[in-house]
Amino acid sequence: MQSDSFTALPLGPRFLANLATLGYHTMTQVQAQTLPAVLDGRDLIAQAKTGSGKTAAFGIGILHRLNPAWFAVQGLVLCPTRELADQVAGELRRLARGVGNVKILTLTGGVSMRPQIASLEHGAHIVVGTPGRIRDHLGRATLDLSKVQTLVLDEADRMTDMGFYDEIANIVSATPERRQTLLFSATYPDDIRFATAGFLRDPLEVTVEGKHTQEKIAQRFYEIGFDGRDEAVARLLRHHRPVSALAFCNTKARCRELAESLRAEGFSALALYGELEQHERDEILVLFANRSCSVLVATDVAARGLDIADLDTVINVDVSKDPEVHVHRIGRTGRAGGSGMAHTLCAPNEKKWVRLVEEYQDQPAVWEDLDALGGQDEPAAPAPMVTLNIAGGKKAKLRPGDLLGALTGDAGLTKEQVGKINIGEFNSYVALERNVAQAAVERLAAGNPPGPGFGAIKGRWFKMRFVEF
Ligand code: ADP
Ligand code: MG
Repeated sequence: MQSDSFTALPLGPRFLANLATLGYHTMTQVQAQTLPAVLDGRDLIAQAKTGSGKTAAFGIGILHRLNPAWFAVQGLVLCPTRELADQVAGELRRLARGVGNVKILTLTGGVSMRPQIASLEHGAHIVVGTPGRIRDHLGRATLDLSKVQTLVLDEADRMTDMGFYDEIANIVSATPERRQTLLFSATYPDDIRFATAGFLRDPLEVTVEGKHTQEKIAQRFYEIGFDGRDEAVARLLRHHRPVSALAFCNTKARCRELAESLRAEGFSALALYGELEQHERDEILVLFANRSCSVLVATDVAARGLDIADLDTVINVDVSKDPEVHVHRIGRTGRAGGSGMAHTLCAPNEKKWVRLVEEYQDQPAVWEDLDALGGQDEPAAPAPMVTLNIAGGKKAKLRPGDLLGALTGDAGLTKEQVGKINIGEFNSYVALERNVAQAAVERLAAGNPPGPGFGAIKGRWFKMRFVEF
């Protein structure tokens, strides 16, 4: 395995120091194989599994070329979904601390155009967005891409799956011919190769094999018919008691059924699939990340590319017919040095797919007996946290410190009892330890609230409620 220090790259001391504060000391495999060429200005096609550190591979490339004193969009990153765009923008902002004042703007659907246009008027160095929304801005001439130096197509396979090809071609034609183009993808089938060939100039092709994952991930297979899978998932959860588990099902209907049946058993489970409204997806991801939801039941498409830290368990409720998809699924756990478990349920007639996985990973499957899993008499443990939704966010000038202050002051909680705080434009979420949450919120409501369901934060009343599911 190739793994080098970032100091081997032609990066300035300030940039390197910032990487060190982020805990980035050695390059991941895909970074080591791409960054020298990327910094050299070369076009690139990189294929590597989720969680391999692709964002920094192109992020460092964009920032290296960027001139912060020049107020023009110099970097453009296209992503398939809003969540991915938000994640990429977050990582770019962390990396940009090593450069100085770099404006990074996300342009995605699901929010109105007007504030985006206002932000564009203020100037941005890097735009991260979804193809549909970027095209809308081009159509209205509110976005100028004629100064773009680095164009990134992130999760290119998924963008083409989602039918974004025409938008992408349109956007590419709005960028200068003399630019660097970097294409990142988890898979690289021929149709994408064909569709994107015209965008790239003598690209370096890099493939990082996903075969090394099993070293960090304990994989187990269980034979079970198609009936009784919900109960089998519950057995696995009762036995292993993961804090955060991602369960994959092949269809939206199965996701919903399984999540519902797990909730009936006392687990904090939610379903994530493509057809949800954007705000519902956002809320589910907040709840999963802040440990209010401990089991996320998702389709492959919905879960692809999401950067979920500290995921200790993956459960494949169906065996994937494609061993590469299987390896991507289980690669969601055991990330960035951690270790994880992956459980796969398999019907007798699905064993042929397991054989493909064995061949692909060059390792025999380890089978276990579901009936032998202990810990079944203890009740399911609900997630350790619950989420309080507060009807106020950035627009109301609420900051994380205000919430933390109110909760540890008036509401009497310790810092440790307050979890992740997410402040949105109009809404905020804060995770509270389950067993103390109710009393804390009652204390915030003390005094003279304007109505039921209000609590005080820094002397102002806000409507608040627990997110139930
Ligand atoms: P991908 O896009 O390949 O799915 P990401 O870019 O989202 O992966 O990175 C996955 C995680 O690994 C992120 O949390 C990121 O901060 C972290 N990461 C990336 N590069 C490094 C590195 N060199 N050292 C440590 N952590 C890293
Ligand atoms: Mg990525």
